[in-house]
Amino acid sequence: MQLDAMRTVLDALPIAVAFVDADERVRIANRACAAILGPAPEGRTCSALLRHPEFLGGLEASLSGDKTHVKRLILTAGGNETHLTVTFTPMITTTVKGVLVAFEDLTPIEQAGVMRRDFVANVSHELRTPLTALVGFIETLRGAARDDPAARDRFLGIMEREAGRMIRLVSDLLSLSRVEAEERRRPANEVDIAVLLKTLLESHRETAASGGIDLRLEMAEGPVRLRADGDQLTQVFHNLVENAIKYGGGGKEVMIRVTELQHEPVLKGAAIQVEVIDRGEGIGPLHLPRLTERFYRVDTHRSREQGGTGLGLAIVKHIVNRHRGRLKIESEPGKGSKFIIILPKT
Ligand code: ADP
Repeated sequence: MQLDAMRTVLDALPIAVAFVDADERVRIANRACAAILGPAPEGRTCSALLRHPEFLGGLEASLSGDKTHVKRLILTAGGNETHLTVTFTPMITTTVKGVLVAFEDLTPIEQAGVMRRDFVANVSHELRTPLTALVGFIETLRGAARDDPAARDRFLGIMEREAGRMIRLVSDLLSLSRVEAEERRRPANEVDIAVLLKTLLESHRETAASGGIDLRLEMAEGPVRLRADGDQLTQVFHNLVENAIKYGGGGKEVMIRVTELQHEPVLKGAAIQVEVIDRGEGIGPLHLPRLTERFYRVDTHRSREQGGTGLGLAIVKHIVNRHRGRLKIESEPGKGSKFIIILPKT
């Protein structure tokens, strides 16, 4: 094959591929190579472009031994790691003898592996804490507290709370995996968000009142319809209102404000905006971008005390994504927080 014809073929490939001659000089680098070899690598020697011993070793072995070699490399630049599998295949064109070098980027697979391992470690840790407490209390009830009815009652109360925590964790995990599985399928039902929010607020009124919090709904009269999954939207606002009561309760008022937007610029159409506003302790700017990560909490001890699983906002984010909507969080420490959900009307 002529070099020009080879260049056309290599440019059409979705992965980075280069042809290197016997002097270890890059003769052809397809477009995808720019991310690995930098701009304009053609004509330069490999050792000037990628000073990695595994890479240079694979290239030399293939050039001298006429055999295919495969190497794994990790490149580090600007704090980011790129995981590559590089295949060196000896090749002779009509005019030049050299090696075809194909770079396969395994970074997304590596990252998915890290996320999976972190997730399993987090879930195990979250379950181990209440389980350890339960086992400890069972031992105490069998031993020292066997004949002490008051202690027994107290310990059974704690055990009930810890078991409840595990049940909440497992049901949040199940919700999360269900929502993730459905994320690509847009809901098809029509839901009246006015009815949904009024029913939801009634179910929280007693808890709010016991903490001296006034729950308010501000919206125009009449139905507000949109394409949605009613159960999932109830879960979104349940999580947000519950958080506002738990963490924003100091403010004595939690307000839900519904506004109809004629044209939402990002969603490019009519939308419904629901704001859940509290005047509580607020959230520092460093935490804001991470709040929707699984198990991320500003104050782990406090969240656990309140029965939190650290999954509420992750569930909210996935449900909003499924509805092709937006979630915005605005907060100022000491002044309160505003969780804004924007959903397309159709
Ligand atoms: P959790 O089960 O811990 O409540 P979430 O995912 O619902 O988990 O929330 C994550 C964290 O975000 C909470 O632990 C809390 O630190 C913070 N947070 C959520 N809502 C509010 C709020 N309204 N005011 C202050 N902090 C909040």
